[in-house]
Amino acid sequence: TATGTTMLGLGAMGRALVAALLKAGHPVTVWNRTPGRAGELIERGAVEAGTVHEAVTAGGPVVVCLYDHASVRQTLTPVADALRGRTVVNLTTTTPGEARELAAWAEERGVAYLDGAIMAIPPMIGAPGAQILYSGDREVFDRYRDLFDLWAASTYDGADAGLASLFDLAILSGMYPLFSGFLQGAAMVRTAGVTAAEFAERAAPFLAAMTGSFAHTAQLVDRGDYSAPVQSLDWTITALETIARAGREQGVAPIPVDMVTALVRQQIDQGHGSEGFDRIIEGMRPA
Ligand code: NDP
Repeated sequence: TATGTTMLGLGAMGRALVAALLKAGHPVTVWNRTPGRAGELIERGAVEAGTVHEAVTAGGPVVVCLYDHASVRQTLTPVADALRGRTVVNLTTTTPGEARELAAWAEERGVAYLDGAIMAIPPMIGAPGAQILYSGDREVFDRYRDLFDLWAASTYDGADAGLASLFDLAILSGMYPLFSGFLQGAAMVRTAGVTAAEFAERAAPFLAAMTGSFAHTAQLVDRGDYSAPVQSLDWTITALETIARAGREQGVAPIPVDMVTALVRQQIDQGHGSEGFDRIIEGMRPA
């Protein structure tokens, strides 16, 4: 196990990660592009490095939690030689392709690389409900597993460094449209004097129950069989258009629902109107 961990990046997330390590009594060396952000972490025992080089040579694994892929490249490239033989755990949000690129960069330079994707907001770090997905070098995952578990429930998704990001961003692909649709609904009922808080109480149980049917949807998609739907695409488009019309009647632009309508219409235009809604996945291949 590590004698000390290095954290590059003291944004909201980096600070939360460091705080969880310090709380468990782990020594941590920190570095941030703009100095002076270590503040209360130093009072709790963190050591602030003056340069990236000083930080990455402190001894333990180098955890990176910066703004994006480009900032990671900018920060690590100048210290590539010092990283040889060391371990990098990159928790910065990147695309799968960016994670694979960093993994290849690390391999060429003799750096052990594990990619991570944080499925939590900073106050959730070290608390129940937080998840961090990892992929890449399995030995790194196994060696530092106890450390990772201080932050969140840790899962290892495979040797392909892109997998953690892939799962993270795929799950978020579901979250954002769901929230947008909820907000469209809140905008609609607001016109009747209903608060968003009241609406949340009404909507949450139904939407939560509906996610129970992901498993059935998944079976149909895995089989590629959309031929015997409970509700056809032709039926669904009428329902979607009614929702959109209701939104417009209330003075709300039904943008989230219009997005779904476009996917449904595409399948109908291709002659699949009698098949099921899940068929819209076939329209999501790159153009
Ligand atoms: P912040 O915006 O709070 O912090 C960004 C950090 O990146 C700062 O330390 C900043 O340094 C640094 N930085 C930005 N550009 C550069 C650069 N070119 N070179 C060096 N350092 C740079 O972001 P968070 O801490 O919230 O997020 C960090 C990562 O964690 C992101 O990839 C984010 O997607 C991910 N994440 C965050 C979540 C959240 O809820 N906050 C949830 C899940 C993942 P400086 O202080 O000098 O500006």
